[in-house]
Parts: sequence; structure tokens; C-alpha cells
Amino acid sequence: MTTHDSTPTEQDKEALLEDLVDANHILFNEGVLDAFGHVSIRHPDDPERFLLARNMAPGLVTGGDILTFELDGTPVDADGRKVYLERFIHGEIYRARPDVMAVVHSHSPSVVPFSAVKSAPLRPMCHMSGFLGEGAPIFEIREAAGHATDLLIRDCGLGASLADSLGDHNVVLMRGHGATVTAPTLKQVVYRAIYVEVNARLQADALRLGPVDYLTADEASSAMETTEGQVERPWQLWKQRARQARTASTS
Ligand code: MN
Repeated sequence: MTTHDSTPTEQDKEALLEDLVDANHILFNEGVLDAFGHVSIRHPDDPERFLLARNMAPGLVTGGDILTFELDGTPVDADGRKVYLERFIHGEIYRARPDVMAVVHSHSPSVVPFSAVKSAPLRPMCHMSGFLGEGAPIFEIREAAGHATDLLIRDCGLGASLADSLGDHNVVLMRGHGATVTAPTLKQVVYRAIYVEVNARLQADALRLGPVDYLTADEASSAMETTEGQVERPWQLWKQRARQARTASTS
């Protein structure tokens, strides 16, 4: 069977699915996700669908747990299995941003304070987090749904409001909740989700010392180009570390 260069082969798709399982384990192992949070990719065969695990802890996901969803959050092949409440985050961002191919939603512990302290915007303070550009916007759920929600993105309307706040940025913070990170590839979204946590920790440390000199917008974009061209290097390390941790925990 011949395929065009732009069409993913069956082998490409299998590798991508395996990467999505590894991404779940890496993000857990690196402390970005705990029992909550999730990572998805746009479906390689259909831009109107995405792949996301069923409702479970990311550290335990296997290939058989990955489900297909429509952009409105309807599961295609769940077969009665429970799905994530906040799947609308993924679908509405894929709908609003054709360039986005992968999404991570986390409650990344060092990032959450920046979602709640609006006078201290999260900005790139080192070259590894150039993807933060001029800073990450904050989604305020009160503006979309009032003062009595549980802060979760429970439907398409809230997902669309979140995608609005994200705009053209790569990261959007969610007040009192967490962050959502986007990228043009799965490996980049994992890299960004890990380094947004690192940046938040470094920025909080730096702010204790004194006024911080952040990257300019141009520095941020140059640094992003350099670091994200090398994303395969940390990916291999994180994958091996996550696989070793899983082997150790089951032996
Ligand atoms: Mn959440």
C-alpha cells in the first residue's frame, strides 16, 4: 500500500499512540499531573476528533484506555466507560486553534499560585520557557459562569470561553484551578507542560530576591525556536525514567 508523504502510515499512528501513553506516564512521573489532569492529541486521521484516555489516573493509562472523541466532547468508542469531566477543554481548543495538535490540562502545583495572584503574571524568566512569550493570560471562570461554579470546564460553552482566553498564546492559566498548555506536537506539549512548572518555580524564587528581568518577546521567540528544536533529547530521558519507575513499581 502506498501513501502520500503527508498521510500518516499505520506505523506512524501506532507510534503516536504509544507516545500518547508514554506522555501520560511522563507527565505523572515529572510531577505535572497527579491523579488528575490529562493529555490529548488531535486525531491523526480526522482533525475533527481527538484522542484522550478514559477517566483514570494518567500514571496508569495503557493503549487500551485511549478513546476517540468528537470536538464537542462526545465519546465515539467509550463503550460505557467513564470519560473525563473536563474533556471540553481539549475539543474546544482544537476547534478554535487549527494549529494546535496536542493539549495538556494540569493542576501543576507551582503554576496554580500564578493563576490566583493576578498582580504577579507568569512570564518567561529563563530561556527554556520562551514558549510563554509575553506571558500567560488567566481565564476567569466567574466572567463566563458567575461566582458559584466548581471551577471545572464542564461543557462546550466553558471550553469555548477558555479557548477565547487562550487566544494565540501557548498557555492559559485557570484561576484557582491550574493551566492548559498547547503545542503543534505531542512532544512539544509535554516539554512545555514540564517547563511551565519549572518556570513558575524559578519565577517565584526570583521574585523573592528582587525585581525580575524577564525575557523580551524577541528573546522568548528566539529561545523557543532553539530549545524546541531539541525536544527529542529530554523526551528520551523522561520516557526512560518513566518506564523505569513503572517497572520498579510493578516488580
Ligand atoms: Mn482540572
